[in-house]
Amino acid sequence: MLNLTRQMIEIRNILLNVNGATDLSLPSIVVIGSQSSGKSSVLESIVGQEFLPKGSNMVTRRPIELTLVNDPSSASEIAEFPALKMFNMTDFQQVQKVLVDLNLAVPHDEAVSADPIQLTIKSPKVPDLSLVDLPGYIQVEAADQPTTLKTKIREVCDKYLEEPNIILAISAADVDLANSAALRAARRADPRGERTIGIITKLDLVEPDVARGMLTNKKYPLKMGYVGVITKIPKATSIFQRKTGVQAFIAQQNTERVFFRENKDIFSGLSVGTKLLKKKLIRVLERSMSNALRPMQQQVLNELEETSYKFKVEFNDRDLTCEKYMAQTIDNLKMEIKEFSEKFGRPELKSLLRSELDQKVLDLLALRYWNKSEPYIKKNPAISDYEFEEPKISELSSAKNDETFWHRKLDLSTANLTKIGVGRLSTTLVTEAILTEIDVLINSTDLRNNDMIKKAIKEAAISVLNQRYNSTADQVENCIKPFKYEIEVEDREWSLSRKHSILLLNEELREVQVAYDVIKKTVGGNKLKQIMTYIENENNSVGQTIERENLGFSPGLILRGREAIFLKDRLAILNLRLKGLQSSACKHKENKFKCPEIFLDVVAEKLTQTAILFLNVELLSDFYYSFPRELEKRLGSKLTTEEIESYAKQDPKVKRHIELQERKELLELALSKIDDVMAIQKRL
Ligand code: GDP
Repeated sequence: MLNLTRQMIEIRNILLNVNGATDLSLPSIVVIGSQSSGKSSVLESIVGQEFLPKGSNMVTRRPIELTLVNDPSSASEIAEFPALKMFNMTDFQQVQKVLVDLNLAVPHDEAVSADPIQLTIKSPKVPDLSLVDLPGYIQVEAADQPTTLKTKIREVCDKYLEEPNIILAISAADVDLANSAALRAARRADPRGERTIGIITKLDLVEPDVARGMLTNKKYPLKMGYVGVITKIPKATSIFQRKTGVQAFIAQQNTERVFFRENKDIFSGLSVGTKLLKKKLIRVLERSMSNALRPMQQQVLNELEETSYKFKVEFNDRDLTCEKYMAQTIDNLKMEIKEFSEKFGRPELKSLLRSELDQKVLDLLALRYWNKSEPYIKKNPAISDYEFEEPKISELSSAKNDETFWHRKLDLSTANLTKIGVGRLSTTLVTEAILTEIDVLINSTDLRNNDMIKKAIKEAAISVLNQRYNSTADQVENCIKPFKYEIEVEDREWSLSRKHSILLLNEELREVQVAYDVIKKTVGGNKLKQIMTYIENENNSVGQTIERENLGFSPGLILRGREAIFLKDRLAILNLRLKGLQSSACKHKENKFKCPEIFLDVVAEKLTQTAILFLNVELLSDFYYSFPRELEKRLGSKLTTEEIESYAKQDPKVKRHIELQERKELLELALSKIDDVMAIQKRL
């Protein structure tokens, strides 16, 4: 045996996967029979395993396309549900359970589904066969169903009963063949009885003569004849003798053999027994498959030509698979990352960190130098450790007071700045900036629509950054350590920072002015003035119990008034400080205690310069090197085939391209296999 059937089943399965080619199919054996006719027992005796759902209310709701593969190399029976990606199942109770679940997934009111369950069983004991167990439509149809449902059930089944399939019509011997629903349905699809094999089960339940009469049936002649079987599993006499699985089928075969041996004379010359049935099925299937092969070859060729033409016209024969599409995506991403690395380098790092430190300097100045009154100080818990009394603003510029006070104040402020944890602060800042940029980058491509890929890219970036985070933060912190003890300033640095401070203060002044103007506009100039005067009077009279006229200001307005007073004071202070910075005193670094804005700016600049050296080498350059590799790993090899497919086919044009190519490849494969089988046939 050259396993022709096996090869033809393979071709059949390839063609089943060709999208939209419903008429491209090689014959299969379709099993029909009413409930209790013994349909399941016949199928199971062919397979040699109990695997079909049982129970009187367990009506099959989906066709089961059963492929049997004779596999001498497998140690035992193996079941597979390829569509569910369930392979190598050896527990047939589990197989039964999956079938029950798949059946029950069809809602009761829909009765049947046209979507078949594909099940493959490989075993050294099964023949190469392709069978279809049809929904028990015969009994369902007979039941009291609405006409629409009956039509639907019949449509699902009739498709399988069409040519070139072979019909296995199962009838029980204890029911008059005139009443056999299976034969009736078979006659409708195959009126000349050319493709139907009649199976008579339960021969043991009727007199042997009656059985013989049924098998030589003249009333309903079938060209392929009838086969008589006994598929009953003998009843156990005690619980210990109960046979299951393979044991049960050995027992069934024995009962059948004994029965036909005992009635040898009566059944002589007739086709009986499941063993013979198997042989007959193999023969019949092989014959009808090989008959179907030549017309199939032509059909496949036509389909292939049509598909190749479309592929050429629409996609210029350009090769595209899901994997290739993913590889292109990764390449594009790498290019984007390269472009991004050119736009986000050392200068960008510097301005990022510098503006963060500028803000910290402004905050520090506001806390330590630009305060006017007690209430504001109290609102800031960050300075609760502050031991000095705040001097008046005027004193800050005239600096007539105690020198040590101002020295210590600047030392403290400098320490505050150098000890904010520049290492972590700057590393976090850069990390977050990179992640934001990656987001922007993803969102500017088609990848924005695919959550799975987006997540994979994000995780790749996070994992690369995480690997470097701690060491970078530590390195940066170590390198700025000297500034915690001493800061030497050169004239050039002082002068640059003076310019920068003036710019910064001007900008701050502008922002405060804008905020003040907004309040003025919303509240109204006059009203704001009234509120501010009211609040200032209130403040001045703290502790006094003077009855004040209630001007009817709401708490909201009072709050706005307080904000306005704060901003007005801040404006006055900033103007004062700007004058100070522009004065000749602040031209010289020796006067740093009088010009804390400039000195802190120098410190911020030094911290920035030192930090970015390491951030650039340790974090940024390393990221640009490792990120594309990590992407390759995560998108290239870590994703499953299904994930890659779902990504690639998300774009309708790409989907069509890939599917057309897959179709073309499947047809080419089928055609080459058909050619091979036909060449073998010719030689035989
Ligand atoms: P289905 O409903 O058509 O799938 O039928 P089953 O295969 O489940 O069989 C229905 C009943 O008939 C079960 O109780 C079987 O044990 C019994 N049965 C099946 N084959 C035979 C047989 O050859 N002889 C006898 N006496 N009973 C059988």
